[in-house]
Parts: sequence; C-alpha cells; structure tokens
Amino acid sequence: MIIMKKLTLALLPTALLLSACGGAPAAENEKPRVVVSFYALEYAAQEVVGDAADVTTLTMPGVDAHDLDLRPSQIADIGTADLVVYLDGFQPAVDDAVGQAGHDRVLDVTDAADLIEAHDDHDHDDHDHDDHDHDHGDHDPHFWQDPERMAQVGRAIAEELGATYPEHAEQFRQGADALAEEMVALDDEYRTGLAECTRSEFVTSHQAFGYLADRYGLTEIAISGLSPEAEPSPARIADVHHLAEEHGITTIFFETLTSPAVAEAIAGDLGVATAILDPLEGVSENSPGDDYPSIMRANLEALRVANDC
Ligand SMILES: [Zn+2]
Repeated sequence: MIIMKKLTLALLPTALLLSACGGAPAAENEKPRVVVSFYALEYAAQEVVGDAADVTTLTMPGVDAHDLDLRPSQIADIGTADLVVYLDGFQPAVDDAVGQAGHDRVLDVTDAADLIEAHDDHDHDDHDHDDHDHDHGDHDPHFWQDPERMAQVGRAIAEELGATYPEHAEQFRQGADALAEEMVALDDEYRTGLAECTRSEFVTSHQAFGYLADRYGLTEIAISGLSPEAEPSPARIADVHHLAEEHGITTIFFETLTSPAVAEAIAGDLGVATAILDPLEGVSENSPGDDYPSIMRANLEALRVANDC
C-alpha cells in the first residue's frame, strides 16, 4: 500500500505536466482574454464578463486616451487576444495594430455606441477649414458620457463574446443586464439632478461632453475641440469669455489628465471658480471617483453646483 501511494504521488507531477502541455484541455480551461482600448470599454467589458474572462486595457491609468502609444507587448496582445474591443477612429495606434493583427476577433463599438457627427465649432478660426470637407471619420467619439450608450455597448460585447463562448453566453447576458440597470439608475439621477437649474450652459476644457449635453438638455461651451491636444486659438478664448459672461457662468471646468492652465487663466480673468469635470478618458488618483459610476456621479454634483440646480 505504502509503495503504491508513493508511486502515485511520484507520477502525479508528470501527469499534470503532460496534460498542461497537451494543448486542447488546458486551453479550454483558460479564460478568454479580452483586450479593450480605453477605460469606458474596460468598465463595460468587466461588468459583462465578471470572472469568466480576463480584461486588459491598452490605455494605462493616468494616460490620456486620445494620445495613446502602444508598446510592442501591447501590439502582441492585440494579435493574440480572444476579442479586441475598440472604437475605430478614436485611437490611431489601436486602429493600426488591429489592422496589422489581421484577425477578425475584433469588436468595433462604433455602431453600438451610435456615434453622432462631430459639430466642432472651434476649427474655423485657426485652420483653412472647409465646411464641405467632413469625411466619415468626423464623429464625436465621447459616447461614454451617455449611460444609455454605455448599456448598448455592454450588450454588443455580451453578444460578440457569447457567440464565441456559448458556455458563458448566459453569464455575459446577465452581466450586460446588470450594467444596463446601473446605467438606468445613473440616467435617472442625472435627469432628476439637472431638472431644475438656473442655467444649462457649462464651460469645459475640451469638447468631451457633447453626448451628456444632448441627453440632459445642456449646452457645452468647450475651450478646445474634440481632442484635448488642440491649442485653442485666441479668437476661441475670446468667444468663451464672451459666452461665459453672457450666460452667467460660475465655474470653468478643467480635467484630471491635461493642464488646467487655460481654464485657470479664463476663470481668473472672469473672477469665477474652477472645478474638475472628468471626461473619463483615463482614471487616475486625481479622478473624483474610482470607477465609471462614481466619477459620473461626481461630475453630476459638480454640474449641479456650477449651474445652481
Ligand atoms: Zn476627449
């Protein structure tokens, strides 16, 4: 008996090693690897998959999503991922890497997010801008400011993954339902919270809040355009001054990941306050919350204070 037991134990590691190298069984036990390109997609994907898949984000915490560069290891991750979730046209480095990877395990959320045409009222002063040169890429990427669109993106992720991994499809569907419920609750809070305000205009650093403005009947006055990198022209800064005075603006909002210098200068000239309105393009230790719902709720409070709601 004792000898048999020793033999069995001695054989065990070899048996484990063999099955681990065998390929198929080990691979079946491995979780699907989902690579997402920025924070809002990470939040949606994580809510959908729970513990049934591993979610990796290409935009590291504290990095501006617009400005993403990929390391070689991240490009390799895109090549081997079980699903890549991204927004075409938002992060050129990701678009390029997805193209290079050449596989079809990708979900572009453009349709699910129901992107709207960009109405950028900033470029005409400082570029030779022709009103007729809008191409198909001219969409506002910031869909995640609308909770309803976040829910739709969650459902698209659940459907795509569920088709590939039918054994987890029900769990993914339930995750998408839970995300949708959370988004409905958030939407209710925004509707109620912004129902009675002294003013509806708000001044932001870059034009990241168009979807939020559309959904809740607000008007965004953005210092910079759709990308935070674009320097505002002197004419645009003069426009913002004028609009802020006209609408009795109390607060110039700045962001967590880009310089507050321009917002502070305008606020100083006007004698009004500055405060954070987080565009949710990357969570950092300076973010007013630690996840999508808590930052959205902090933004709501900031808007209520600024607009006397
Ligand atoms: Zn942005």
